[in-house]
Amino acid sequence: MHIKSLTLRGFKSFASATECSFSPAINVIVGPNGSGKSNIVDALAWVMGQQGAKSLRGEKMQDVVFAGTSTHAALGRAKVTLTLDNSEGLLGIPSEEVTIERTMFRSGGSEYALNGQAVRLSDIQDLLADAGVAQEDHALVRQGRVDEILTANAEQRRDILEEAFGIHRFRQRASKSERKLESMKQNLHRLEDLNAELT
Ligand code: ATP
Repeated sequence: MHIKSLTLRGFKSFASATECSFSPAINVIVGPNGSGKSNIVDALAWVMGQQGAKSLRGEKMQDVVFAGTSTHAALGRAKVTLTLDNSEGLLGIPSEEVTIERTMFRSGGSEYALNGQAVRLSDIQDLLADAGVAQEDHALVRQGRVDEILTANAEQRRDILEEAFGIHRFRQRASKSERKLESMKQNLHRLEDLNAELT
């Protein structure tokens, strides 16, 4: 599986539609300082479901929407489309090519689409996590991250390895199930109390 293309529309410094095509081998993005190289990496993390504005180098999530320049008015919407080659079927979808799209309006809230169909964020997260491509740190290693990994303590390093091996998503699912179980138990207690009052 590899990235075929990434199209940015109104995302950060990319006001007009800009498509980056990638080859299955190593790809290098070059350009002067401030030309938007890191914004492309931000777009990749964002379309994969990144939720933290700080991780995208902004204060609030709406900062990803093109804010305008002296020559171009601000836009009201950011949209990023990621096209993945799925010819090996690594993503559990019977389609040679998979597109993931995220749209955000300046007023807030994100919309996601998978192969053109509206889906939830969790659908995108599950799809990518099941293929071992979470949007977290091991898939996207940013500037300074290598140093951080090298100087991490044993516990932090275990976290990184667990994430790389895909154990994190099972932990997340386990804690989600535990929370559900806890709320079911409380409902059951309430029912027992009501039952006791009635009998
Ligand atoms: P360097 O080589 O210095 O790391 P870079 O090529 O990675 O630079 P980026 O950090 O991707 O550059 O881009 C920074 C530019 O993006 C800045 O000029 C900033 O003003 C612009 N930018 C960021 N967010 C927005 C936004 N919401 N609207 C318009 N422009 C934005």
